[in-house]
Amino acid sequence: MATINSVLGPLDTANLGFTLMHEHILVASAGVPQDYPELLESKYMDRIVDGLNKAKGGGINTVVDATTIDLGRDVNIVAEASRRTGVNIIACTGWWLDIPRFLIGVSPDQFAQVFIRDIKKGIAGTDIKAGLLKGASDMAGVTPAEGVILRALARAHHQTNVPIMLHSYSPGQVGRQQLAILKEEGVDLKRVKMDHSNDTTDVEYLTWILEQGCYLGLDRYPGQTTSSQARTKTMKALIDAGYKDRLCPSHDWSLARVEAEGSPLGSQEEREERNPHGYLYVKNVVFAQLREMGVSEEIVNSLCVNGPRNFFEGV
Ligand SMILES: [Zn+2]
Repeated sequence: MATINSVLGPLDTANLGFTLMHEHILVASAGVPQDYPELLESKYMDRIVDGLNKAKGGGINTVVDATTIDLGRDVNIVAEASRRTGVNIIACTGWWLDIPRFLIGVSPDQFAQVFIRDIKKGIAGTDIKAGLLKGASDMAGVTPAEGVILRALARAHHQTNVPIMLHSYSPGQVGRQQLAILKEEGVDLKRVKMDHSNDTTDVEYLTWILEQGCYLGLDRYPGQTTSSQARTKTMKALIDAGYKDRLCPSHDWSLARVEAEGSPLGSQEEREERNPHGYLYVKNVVFAQLREMGVSEEIVNSLCVNGPRNFFEGV
């Protein structure tokens, strides 16, 4: 048992329940929800509340909002959404891929200080505290600026004991570079979750990550580059190999975002067509796939419970 920060205050890990470990309540860009809310979908709050109510009705208890400052984090919106729906939401601090040029030269210790403030005191002048640290690297591997953030995450982790989630590019095995830096900083890798790991079907690579002690975010569903079925087959292989309690299935799905006609992510209607289940895709579709593949009811029902709880408890 451990106590972690939810956006509405302390939360006992015993009460996490069914937890989605990588989602987005509202995704935009730094400052947009505060300064240019008219760029967001109209009625974005209704959409958020509706999505969370549906999730709750389907048995989802907790959602990790993987939205950092550069993804347009607004903790007031997130806290209101949690208050109105009763879904526990855990906010994160750290940085995604959009590191502006004016921050080049800021040291790991400087970044660590502000991340620690987000965890210990509160985010953006509120008393809403972060419960996770997040970093990111993609196709280009770990860039120098991302390396600074990684070291900052490690140092903030050492001061706060809050775990680390990493956006990664699994087809390029970028996790190997990310973990090398965290190891240099002395992080126990069982406090790290490697996300977007189901963008690859390379079980050998994923097993290597797990063997470092990490948790795996199998958190792109339905996903775009690999079929949902192939993602679930990979999950089944990892379950069969004995890693069921270290897996974190989720969607990386945003309930609301910027209203952009020309968005490469497609229109809202196209997104809903691709995933009419929202935050219930894993429960409705992926769990059915696993049952069909012969995974026992007991294991299926433990999947979004044990992994998340173990990760937060640091076991
Ligand atoms: Zn994400």
